[in-house]
Amino acid sequence: MINEDTIDTLIRTAKNARNNAYAPYSKRAVGACVLTSDGTLYGGSCIENSSLSLSMCAERVAIFKAVADGKNTFDAIAVVADTEEPFVPCGACLQVMAEFGINDVIMANLDGDIRPTTLKELIPYAKIKESEE
Ligand code: ZN
Repeated sequence: MINEDTIDTLIRTAKNARNNAYAPYSKRAVGACVLTSDGTLYGGSCIENSSLSLSMCAERVAIFKAVADGKNTFDAIAVVADTEEPFVPCGACLQVMAEFGINDVIMANLDGDIRPTTLKELIPYAKIKESEE
């Protein structure tokens, strides 16, 4: 598991990304931040659409930004929303995290509740890359 300073940095960056959320339908802004293995941070916010199935979660926005920028190995991801309990990523995002081997998942809310966990705990039987099976 990553250290507390890194967790704080990830959550702070996720909160900043959350400020750019486009969530006119759900009104629930979500922010995420992924940490690449070379130490680069990528923030992402949820982006909704009037055709709701076209919406994209903050976690996947952050991961896809990094991948599009040439990064594909990661150490951790944090996700933050204004929820009573720390925000839990959806199944689709967990599967994308599995694809890129993101093991440490930091779930948080705006009240300062932080729940560090692992991808294995959230989705123990995730499909992984053929080369790792
Ligand atoms: Zn999701």
